[in-house]
Amino acid sequence: MKTRIKNILQEKGTGQRLTITGWVRTRRDTGGFSFIEVGDGSCLANLQVIADSRLTNYDSEVKHLSTGTSVIVEGELKESPAKGQAVEIHADRIEIVGHADPETYPLQKKRHSFEFLREISHLRPRTNALGAVGRVRSRLSYAVHQFFQGRGFIQVHTPIITTSDCEGAGEMFQVSSGKPGAKEDHFFGRAAGLTVSGQLQAEVYALALGDVYTFGPTFRAEKSNTSRHLAEFWMIEPEMAFCDLKGNMQIAEEMLKYLLTDVMTNCPEDMELFDKFIEKGLLKKLQDVVDQEFAHITYTEAVDRLKSAKKTFEFPVEWGLDLQSEHERYLTEEVFKRPLTVTDYPAAIKPFYMRVNEGGKTVAAMDILVPGIGEIVGGSQREERYDVLVSRMEQAGINLADYQWYLDLRLYGSVPHAGFGLGFERLIQFVTGMANIREVIPFPRTPGSAPC
Ligand code: ATP
Ligand code: MN
Repeated sequence: MKTRIKNILQEKGTGQRLTITGWVRTRRDTGGFSFIEVGDGSCLANLQVIADSRLTNYDSEVKHLSTGTSVIVEGELKESPAKGQAVEIHADRIEIVGHADPETYPLQKKRHSFEFLREISHLRPRTNALGAVGRVRSRLSYAVHQFFQGRGFIQVHTPIITTSDCEGAGEMFQVSSGKPGAKEDHFFGRAAGLTVSGQLQAEVYALALGDVYTFGPTFRAEKSNTSRHLAEFWMIEPEMAFCDLKGNMQIAEEMLKYLLTDVMTNCPEDMELFDKFIEKGLLKKLQDVVDQEFAHITYTEAVDRLKSAKKTFEFPVEWGLDLQSEHERYLTEEVFKRPLTVTDYPAAIKPFYMRVNEGGKTVAAMDILVPGIGEIVGGSQREERYDVLVSRMEQAGINLADYQWYLDLRLYGSVPHAGFGLGFERLIQFVTGMANIREVIPFPRTPGSAPC
């Protein structure tokens, strides 16, 4: 039975005989001894293995162990006299499981650029930084479920293939059976695509089960090749019945603070690595987010602030135009210096399902903006009034017959309800300080690129 290095380093049970499995990170020889750093992916730290000529394969194999080789090591755990580690393993058996040819193994000791590592996405999780992202991502995923389940939310698996284009932005990938001669669009009787959001279906369950959430893959044929857009990403979408915009804002803020606290508490070594090598001051930034109340302004106020800013922007600022990333970042980074919720956007630039405010010019939308990223959460109170929804859908040119199920929710026991979408990769970018979203998903899909 193998023991994971993370557990060994936590328990430090010296005197025990243990077996570890992993990959050689480095080897150093000094007169009849070798010091071998072995990592198994369970944590950032490696375990030092001491090997000597008592091993039958010392001269033939151990002395030649190269980076990337997979090994099984058995031995006794002892207190380490060296600085930088509490314990080490004195090996009495080292089995080489798989060689890694040092002539061709691409991960040598030097630091590699993230761009280079993207070209070897099958090997990059073996690096310290990408391994840490993998562990932090897993922890955050777990914490998302803990947050919602702990508050009585019920998880709904919304469909991946759908016939409703929630955002109506024409970013839906089309799905066809691909069979030669098959009528492209008619496997499902009509055009279908990969979901851009589970929201509409989550609303169905919210109006039956109260508080629900989805957490699943989402697809957008985004033409924009930016550092914060992917063609395939994961989204967390809570939907709450008997809830208005204010309640929605509260739960979003509580959730973000919960997730940041959880990851700092449970992934301290990985988070220190990001703080040290990826974004200096990261931990303080995150702790400040946890400690401060989010700022809140309306879209109209945001436009005023941007218009009176001394800064010149690339994109125009005018009431009625959407905020661009540069505007969002200016507001959260330079004006408020903390997360900022912007609410009540012009109805004309937001999807049909958002609740129309009094006066009809704006809708009860909310975006949460964070420093370094811009938009991390987008949400709204939903239109629960049948007639208002119908006229919004007509304005948007939507075929009502296709959405009768959605309209029915407003005919039978309609209630005020609200929800939002948190882009999981944007969250991980914020938490790790990674500049490019391609580094925070194991296998990024972007225009022109989906290697493995
Ligand atoms: P943006 O303006 O940044 O493109 P959006 O307005 O299209 O975002 P929403 O439709 O509100 O975003 O989606 C909800 C959340 O999903 C966003 O706040 C963001 O965190 C995330 N998100 C949206 N598009 C992408 C994408 N292409 N890649 C990764 N995350 C995304
Ligand atoms: Mn978008």
